[in-house]
Amino acid sequence: MIKSPLNNAKALIHSGDEEKLVYACLELRLAIESYVYRKLEFHSKRHGKKLLYKHWQPNKAIKILDQIEPKANLSYQLSFAKQTGEDVKKLDYKPLGSHHALSVSWINKTYNKLGSFLHLQPKSNSMATIDKTFLEEVVVEIEKSETSSLLSNFATTISFDCDLCKESITCCEEALTDLKEVVCPNDLCRGAYDMSKEGTDWMFKLKTLSFDCPDCNSKSELATTKLDVGQRIVCIDCGSQFQIAGNEWKLSKVIN
Ligand SMILES: [Zn+2]
Ligand SMILES: [Zn+2]
Repeated sequence: MIKSPLNNAKALIHSGDEEKLVYACLELRLAIESYVYRKLEFHSKRHGKKLLYKHWQPNKAIKILDQIEPKANLSYQLSFAKQTGEDVKKLDYKPLGSHHALSVSWINKTYNKLGSFLHLQPKSNSMATIDKTFLEEVVVEIEKSETSSLLSNFATTISFDCDLCKESITCCEEALTDLKEVVCPNDLCRGAYDMSKEGTDWMFKLKTLSFDCPDCNSKSELATTKLDVGQRIVCIDCGSQFQIAGNEWKLSKVIN
């Protein structure tokens, strides 16, 4: 058997030694990471290595991948047929391959659950009991994804430069209807955008809050992702500098 994290995990699970299950958790996490990086490697041909490899943690990487290639996390089969002018449904289709993907939610949940077995429980100061059946289920899912014969990208992508940091933000047109917001991939920026469609064009607007300068009363726009205690704000009109000193929630009464 070739040494791979998945094969190592299988050997540890089937060793019959309960104490080795913690090492199986570690190997399964590596197997998930390896799955994510193979996906990134494939899609980076289209989107650039810089964008994807900055998000080295699987859950972050998969989130960005979901924004740019929504079908990357779906399972599907592809077939082809020669066009003969007949009804497309009646053509003789031959299988081209199948793609079994691990979904974003599965990756997040499983990666975190495996991780929880690697630490001492705070209250009891002992390791949690590892459910062997759960580990076997994880092996089956990863194995299915490894036998996939196909990776493809169909998505039409849209790119624009971030207003805040000028980094290019790429997203898939198909994903836009399901996403609540588009996020800048630059970790130091994370600017969030609302989107809307006008005719065939997509419009992106940085999420902002307006701020009234106490010195000159002019309005400035602030990116919502920049709102944090200690953040400096400079009025674009008079140049006065302010700092966010605290966050305070105010309540107003709802009158029905
Ligand atoms: Zn940005
Ligand atoms: Zn001002």
